[in-house]
Amino acid sequence: MKAFLPKKKKKKKNHMENQIDIQMDQRKGRRLVLFPLPFQGHINPMLLLATILHSKGFSITIIHTNFNSLNPSHYPNFTFHSIPDGLLESEASSLDLVALAKLLNIKCTDPFRDCMDKLLSDASEEPISCLISDSLFYFTQAVADSLKLPRVVLRTGGLSSLVVFAAFPLLRERGYLPIQDSQLEELVVELPPLKVKDLPMINTVYPDSYYEIVACMVNESKASSGIILNSFEELELSELDTLRQEFPIPIFPIGPFHKYFLTSSSGSLLAQDQSSIAWLDKQASKSVIYASFGSLAALSEAQFLEIAWGLANSKQPFLWVVRPGLVRGSEWLESLPSGFLETLNGRAHIIKWAPQLEVLAHPAVGAFWTHNGWNSTLESICEGVPMICMPCFTDQKVNAKYVSQVWKVGLQLENGLDR
Ligand code: UDP
Repeated sequence: MKAFLPKKKKKKKNHMENQIDIQMDQRKGRRLVLFPLPFQGHINPMLLLATILHSKGFSITIIHTNFNSLNPSHYPNFTFHSIPDGLLESEASSLDLVALAKLLNIKCTDPFRDCMDKLLSDASEEPISCLISDSLFYFTQAVADSLKLPRVVLRTGGLSSLVVFAAFPLLRERGYLPIQDSQLEELVVELPPLKVKDLPMINTVYPDSYYEIVACMVNESKASSGIILNSFEELELSELDTLRQEFPIPIFPIGPFHKYFLTSSSGSLLAQDQSSIAWLDKQASKSVIYASFGSLAALSEAQFLEIAWGLANSKQPFLWVVRPGLVRGSEWLESLPSGFLETLNGRAHIIKWAPQLEVLAHPAVGAFWTHNGWNSTLESICEGVPMICMPCFTDQKVNAKYVSQVWKVGLQLENGLDR
């Protein structure tokens, strides 16, 4: 009977379907495992890198911690595995970032190795060709070595700050570090135009751990198979030359990652308040000061009030991100004087978290008052928005100096905060 039926004509594939087939073929055996450090400024570039690599034909598996865990539904093309980081609630809410970074490197080791073991032995999946992990997850180099898997590092900061971190042993030997208050204004002759006060330090009760983390980050990056950076040669050429001499591995400054696509990343840990765009639409071109200090920086109430009055006294409209937790000891805006917002007659829009890429690209934005986290710095440079620099800690200080004195696209507030 079958023989008498007309043969079903095989439907010819259209161009798109052929392309997908080609991509699927290429994807075979090209699985990458990515492991971001669980902080916003590290998650965003890692997920953007994952998206770039996926578009080049790689399959993407993301391992993430329970702490600041990711939402897989935003990335249907990636496979996600969550690992227990073992952080106690008190540890996870610690304001000491040094302690937290060190703990993550200790407590994630076994769960990460177990997860990698499982992934590598899963015969139903494509073989893994490489691990890409955040440079601050330095413990992963030993794990990758023991599994005989190449590890490539994602350094989420700029080239210039990596040069400074790599120079820490020299800076200690020459007496610049630990920083002495009497030397703050001294030039670091080995790293112009940085002064001692611009060195990437942080307030911590564990200063020795900070030096240890920096040393591990640098050494385990040097031991890796290559470093990817969210920066570009034209911006940091001489720093790239320096790094190429110091790091005996391939270096790929292939940023800015967010410019590869028209759509932005949805790796945001907090909901982005879209009302800011409608508010910006009503403001004059280049009139608005956008103020945001990123996901980790914290201010005293006194600093917060100086900033509030400074913004008010500027007489410019302003869009201000006050993240819950930005002001130490406050939930949100309680410390603003009563009636503060009302006196501004709609000139201010305060939100908890912004769609920052869209905000910086908006024609109404004329300046960015920033803490100079690397992502914010790069995003502002890409949109041509000049910066008011107020770095808080670590690489932000180096970034602020480069913005104001090397690239000359901003001014740094250097003499304290005064309304
Ligand atoms: N960001 C955002 N909304 C905000 C503030 C920041 O989406 O209201 C994003 C910003 O675009 C950047 C990241 O969060 O990609 C912050 O990273 P950055 O390195 O600037 O600072 P960090 O938070 O690590 O201090």
